[in-house]
Amino acid sequence: MRRPIVVGNWKMNGTLASVPALLGAIKAGVDNMEAADLAVCPPHVFLPMAAEILASSAIQLGAQNAADQENGAYTGEISAPMLAMFGCTMAIIGHSERRLIYGEDDALVAARAAQVLSNGLIPVICVGETLEQRNSDETFAVIGRQLDAVFNSINADQLVKVVIAYEPVWAIGTGQTASAEQAQDVHAFIRKRLATVTPDAEAIRIVYGGSVKPDNAQGLFNMPDIDGGLIGGASLDALSFLAIFRAALSI
Ligand code: PEP
Repeated sequence: MRRPIVVGNWKMNGTLASVPALLGAIKAGVDNMEAADLAVCPPHVFLPMAAEILASSAIQLGAQNAADQENGAYTGEISAPMLAMFGCTMAIIGHSERRLIYGEDDALVAARAAQVLSNGLIPVICVGETLEQRNSDETFAVIGRQLDAVFNSINADQLVKVVIAYEPVWAIGTGQTASAEQAQDVHAFIRKRLATVTPDAEAIRIVYGGSVKPDNAQGLFNMPDIDGGLIGGASLDALSFLAIFRAALSI
């Protein structure tokens, strides 16, 4: 039995006023947290404030990236031990915006994920194809390569702790969601690939991300290999985010 998980990726959004307001509304509206995990990932600068607000809550705190090194001369990077100091239990790694806009390649993504894991945090490792890759039938090859890099950096016995997020690039922030069947096909492929390197494949959570909204969440979450969601835009609205979390409760 895999525990469902819903993670909110706030991206580069938030102000000193909006962060407490959004977290307060999520905290006030959430229930049934025994049955599933819920996490928010604000921008790094808001993590101390968010940690304080969430201190008495089971809502988990995550970061939107983490360094591939522990400390040292890496200007602009934030390490996993630093994130742990501020109450983070997870970090999104390899988001397509990091890969495509900031040039993070498969090896760097895998190194970041390994560093996160070795510091006791959960990496939410994003994989996914562009529209061009999907249209040229490269979806499985691309995702296979992204996964292989992770498998080369993380021991099989550690893999059970990771969360994999399947995020088709063409569905992120576009309002164009993968159909439940399209997403399930890729999730089943990912689980099969996991099974080639670990006996724990059935226990590893694979979440879907890409324009998940309250009205499409249930259909996606009903699929056998979809264990929750990585939510961008809809995580900035407490009611929408909570509705998506409620959908995950019935997985
Ligand atoms: C994301 O940024 O990870 C994401 C899935 O965004 P959206 O839900 O807005 O498509």
